[in-house]
Amino acid sequence: MEARSQLRHRPVLRSFPPQYIMHLLRCPFAGRCYKRRVPELPEVETVVRSVAPRLTGRRIVRAQFSSHHVVPGSFKRLASRVEGQTVHGVTRHGKFIVVELDRGNLIIHLGMTGRLLFDAVPGPHTRAIFELDEGTLLYDDPRQFGRIEWAPELPARVARLGPDALGIAEADFLGLLAKRRARMKPLFMDQSFLRGMGNIYSDEALFQAAIHPRAIAARLSPERGRRLYRAMIDVLQAAIESKGSSISNYVDAEGRSGSFQHQHQVYGREGETCNRCGGTIRRVVLGGRGTHYCPKCQRP
Ligand SMILES: [Zn+2]
Repeated sequence: MEARSQLRHRPVLRSFPPQYIMHLLRCPFAGRCYKRRVPELPEVETVVRSVAPRLTGRRIVRAQFSSHHVVPGSFKRLASRVEGQTVHGVTRHGKFIVVELDRGNLIIHLGMTGRLLFDAVPGPHTRAIFELDEGTLLYDDPRQFGRIEWAPELPARVARLGPDALGIAEADFLGLLAKRRARMKPLFMDQSFLRGMGNIYSDEALFQAAIHPRAIAARLSPERGRRLYRAMIDVLQAAIESKGSSISNYVDAEGRSGSFQHQHQVYGREGETCNRCGGTIRRVVLGGRGTHYCPKCQRP
């Protein structure tokens, strides 16, 4: 069984460049992270908001799993943890979805291509089926970088993430910036600094605040730090209102896609015209990540 799952893993990894595989080996998210377009805070928040009303109060009657990439341990053990349990709430912790049960939590990370769908027909990419006392919840994931696990509390690697990007107070954000000598873009990507920020919303927040992605956090004036805080919150809230950015195959639990990608000012707009100054949007690789910015509008 183990050998078979190893064999199935190879084609998944082969489709990525070597530096991506190196990242997977070093990644703090137990190699289940991704360096590509993935659901970020607004997408996960959108999924949580669409799942919570339908899942809360439901009892999980039966759970079936079919991928050891997504469910690392024994399928039987995970099923026995969740079967018969009632869902008390669904919340977001950074980019993790936390389903609170009578006993412990079911923790879901969507990885790159994970989707939670209600009452959908199981397909070739269905990795988990939760039969509920009313309806069915499916977990679909073509690339299988997502993860489903059970834990009595939040697992240590999830709990030790930094404060939530949407929940942090301005003064605390400024305090964190003052302590870090890192460049802003890689710092935003560091989940131990803030949890939930990712590539798209880091680029968009830095553009809105007119701060260069290479700017050193500790050197930002308090005024620019406050502007960055407001930009980050504004960008995240606007994205949640648009149900996130539909990139890759992200959809919410009703199968609806988001529309924030139409409001991107810099992300994915390399070579296009800056809406603010008429200059040209540039893309550079910073901390291993494609970074989009306007060299005229954004100052170090
Ligand atoms: Zn510009």
